[in-house]
Amino acid sequence: MKNTKYVFVTGGVTSSLGKGIIAASLAKLLQVRGYSVTIQKLDPYINIDPGTLNPYEHGECYVTNDGAETDLDLGHYERFLNIPTSQANNVTTGRIYQSVIDKERRGDFLGKTVQVIPHITDEIKRRIRLLGNTGDYDIIITEIGGTVGDIESLPYIEAVRQLEWELGRENAVVIHLTLIPYLAAAGELKTKPTQHSVKMLMQSGVNPDVLVCRTEHPIGDDIKRKLALFCNVQQEDVIESIDVNTIYDVPNLMYKEGLDQVVLKKLKLETSPKPNLTEWNEFLRKHKNPKHTVEIGLVGKYVELQDAYKSISEAFIHAGSSQEINVNLHWIHSESLTVENAESKLKGLDGVLVAPGFGVRGVEGKIKAIQYIRENNIPFLGICLGMQMAVIEFARNVLGLEDANSTEMDKKTPHPVINLMEEQKNISDMGGTMRLGAWDCKLEKGTKVYEAYNTEMISERHRHRYEFNNDYLDKFTKAGMKISGINPETKLVETIEIPNHPYFVGVQYHPEYKSTVLNPHPLFVAFVKACLETK
Ligand code: GLN
Repeated sequence: MKNTKYVFVTGGVTSSLGKGIIAASLAKLLQVRGYSVTIQKLDPYINIDPGTLNPYEHGECYVTNDGAETDLDLGHYERFLNIPTSQANNVTTGRIYQSVIDKERRGDFLGKTVQVIPHITDEIKRRIRLLGNTGDYDIIITEIGGTVGDIESLPYIEAVRQLEWELGRENAVVIHLTLIPYLAAAGELKTKPTQHSVKMLMQSGVNPDVLVCRTEHPIGDDIKRKLALFCNVQQEDVIESIDVNTIYDVPNLMYKEGLDQVVLKKLKLETSPKPNLTEWNEFLRKHKNPKHTVEIGLVGKYVELQDAYKSISEAFIHAGSSQEINVNLHWIHSESLTVENAESKLKGLDGVLVAPGFGVRGVEGKIKAIQYIRENNIPFLGICLGMQMAVIEFARNVLGLEDANSTEMDKKTPHPVINLMEEQKNISDMGGTMRLGAWDCKLEKGTKVYEAYNTEMISERHRHRYEFNNDYLDKFTKAGMKISGINPETKLVETIEIPNHPYFVGVQYHPEYKSTVLNPHPLFVAFVKACLETK
């Protein structure tokens, strides 16, 4: 067993400073120095997981191999580190309380009064240490969601205080991410909000060891000196994090600022050899110097909030870079699409992706878009609901099954080509009850998906309740739709395609969750290539 060291990342002043990206960038730097590292996110909300949250609230729900519905930051962790995360990497207050209350009901507390301290804080500490059991890690980075000063963050800060003390100074480091606002009228950067948020942390007994300062302008030595003085750190522990064009620049930026260096020094770990970012920088070089551009439409109903499709837009960046293609995404609201305007909205696009989703809002627009795409030979990738809508479109317009639908949208449809899975029929709880996580799929040789993956057996992550209705299988295949991938055990349809179309592929699973910087997803690669070829 290794002597695992811990890094805690807290946030001050405002939310949305990019704690997840800073944590992932630090982890990347440590990883390419040869340390084994993983990252965890603790979310101070009462939902058990973000699975039941509206994407407008919290962005995309990210799904792990083991079927956990998690915060979108876990997507960044996987994309940066190229290693899978699991349920243990994301814990919410809801889950913490649920475990403690379950124990209380079992009588595990032997008649004691159950309290925030020590019982909730003990459970938080247990969850932090538990992650160490999922692998042999040198360093575990734990990101505390929310902002210091929030009532709901207090038990987490207290748990960090206790852990630091239990682990000893050499085994734990606290990084505080903060904002240095710029007042245009005064032409000045302001440190006061940071001083206050550090003071607030200190009142809870936690001294930040490192300050990472988000800023729109270089902060300079004067401000660093001032922050160091007021916040009880050395000047070298004040790290500037200036705005960059792409999140993938942040590891280099943090390296230049010495973040990994100061963290390793405090943890008494070797600072040589230097990080080897060769592969990472090769990805960046291609990403920034594309030879071609493709215009791809993304049809979805949450397009106002692009975080709702984070993994998809990142997967396009990975795939695009691998082919030296700049993917220019056009966000199209599915509710804005009609029979009349589908042509004007989609004309000129080199390809269209129809996004995952739930519920009836905007689905008719998606179906209209797919009809136009299919009839006009525009490359198409349909993900989950996007695939289901492609099946419905084909049923209505090729098979002539009027009013064909998914029973999610129309319970009484005469042609339920997409239907609730048998095991889903008696489920009433909404949280964590979908078909979730990694499932096997067998691909048929000679198909577009087989060509993309170049292998027969794949495993991909799922998050849905409805499925292709196999009662209609014959009708579809006879009319020219190819069922190119099925689950080998359940025979459920996983992928569909139309062979006499330049590129028309729908998948019931979510390929976007598995795309990383170093492993662009084969389906996204095949799709952007097809978009370029048919351009
Ligand atoms: N709403 C559909 C289902 O539950 C699709 C889900 C999705 O796109 N993730 O089957």
